[in-house]
Amino acid sequence: HRCSNLRIYPHSFWGDVPGGAGGAEGSKGLSNGQNQTSGVQEAAAAENLLRLVTERKKEIADSLKKDLGKSERCTELFETLGCEGEIRLALQHLSDWAAPRPVEKTLMTLVDQAYVQPQPLGLVLIIGAWNYPWAVTLQPLVGAIAAGNAAIIKPSEVSSHSARAMEELLPLYLDTDLYPVVTGGVSETQELLRQRWDHVFYTGSSSVGRLVMEAAAAHLTPVTLELGGKSPCYIHSDCNIRVAARYGPDHVGKFVNCGQTCISPDYVLCEPSVQSRLLEEVRECIKEFYTENPKGFEDYGRIINQRHFRRIMGLMEGSTVALGGDCDEADCYIGPTVLKDVSADSKVMKEEIFGPVLPIISVSGVDQAIQFISDREKPLVIYVFTEDKKIIQRMIADTSSGALLANDCLVHFTVSTLPFGGVGHSGMGCYKGKHTFDQLSHLRSCLIKSSSLESVNSLRYPPHTQRKINW
Ligand code: NAD
Repeated sequence: HRCSNLRIYPHSFWGDVPGGAGGAEGSKGLSNGQNQTSGVQEAAAAENLLRLVTERKKEIADSLKKDLGKSERCTELFETLGCEGEIRLALQHLSDWAAPRPVEKTLMTLVDQAYVQPQPLGLVLIIGAWNYPWAVTLQPLVGAIAAGNAAIIKPSEVSSHSARAMEELLPLYLDTDLYPVVTGGVSETQELLRQRWDHVFYTGSSSVGRLVMEAAAAHLTPVTLELGGKSPCYIHSDCNIRVAARYGPDHVGKFVNCGQTCISPDYVLCEPSVQSRLLEEVRECIKEFYTENPKGFEDYGRIINQRHFRRIMGLMEGSTVALGGDCDEADCYIGPTVLKDVSADSKVMKEEIFGPVLPIISVSGVDQAIQFISDREKPLVIYVFTEDKKIIQRMIADTSSGALLANDCLVHFTVSTLPFGGVGHSGMGCYKGKHTFDQLSHLRSCLIKSSSLESVNSLRYPPHTQRKINW
């Protein structure tokens, strides 16, 4: 119950920050002769965060081993490297991102200054999920810091070891007045949500996302909702099924982090003839990537807890297991599993699986796949495997999702120039690189008029004659 210790900053807080990233004049770009040392505090905080991520790899890996059975290698690949990359990018571009952004002028503003000045929003609440507990809290934090905000970090209580490690480690590197960590469960999060923030950045399920938005609405606080859903993967008959199996349904897409990845392909759509070939390839891939005994293999993780273990096992009821299906409740282990000939109204198709279980659903081709996807909520991502560019273009034109990735899985998350986020039920707003900076800034319109062209201004003064209007 640490929320009671929270210090809520006055909204004028940023006025006191010398050289804040969002300072009114910015550091460069305009010839207003008022350059300033923009972003010094932000850069120092980002550097400290970088030190945390690089110096404390061991503690971070230990927490993730206990929470999700993640190996050190997986921690580095899927959690810390991404954070490091985001911090380095922010450090490299901080002053450009914070600088005034001149805009195109009209005839009426030709001699004026017209620009967009990013300005900190103020106080940001970052609520994280448990599946990548470090990445989904620290990556938004990078943007919050870079944009000159204060931020409160609320890690998920479900990944309790990571939450504890964050609570212990962050204060060793960051100013706790500006970036405190608040731990706790649902009631603490609800208490936080009752407070007034300048932005709430939430990662988690769509149902809780709705509650977050409701609470934020009471204060007219903007939200970023990074949610989940059922992301489809359409495998067309013309593609290299072996490659598709390796990148998509298998290692990279579905079974990493035991399927507990918001952008993992939730289910596969393909023609019946593709299904049998795919099953063969996936069987081989599982052996190659995870050995004959994934349970004993270091890079194969665990389900977060027994509640989720039982939920995932329950989802398989009524479906045919084609591969895997082995499990151990005491160890929260579910082996890489593929379900075949799954019907659209089966249990496993009723909610996001968020586990290492891949249903294959037969469709007659791309038309039916598009129809199937369009009949459901807009997903976080749509995957398509095909050699045919026209099919990719059709998927882009005829469906909607947070992102579309062709011939690979997950890797769009690593491209910082692409905004990462959902649409509709999969979320709103986006982040990564400069997108996080913009998301957590107010992009303020500034128009500084010159008084030298009063003759042009006179066109606006009454009387509003027809001659003036026609001009
Ligand atoms: P979770 O249960 O850890 O919840 C996330 C946060 O919400 C926690 O901090 C928790 O304290 C808080 N919370 C839970 N119930 C609450 C309530 N009733 N009121 C207020 N706060 C509450 O995580 P989860 O929701 O199980 O996370 C899994 C979901 O997150 C999946 O749907 C997944 O797809 C999604 N996800 C999305 C992304 C993304 O970037 N889009 C990333 C990771 C996970």
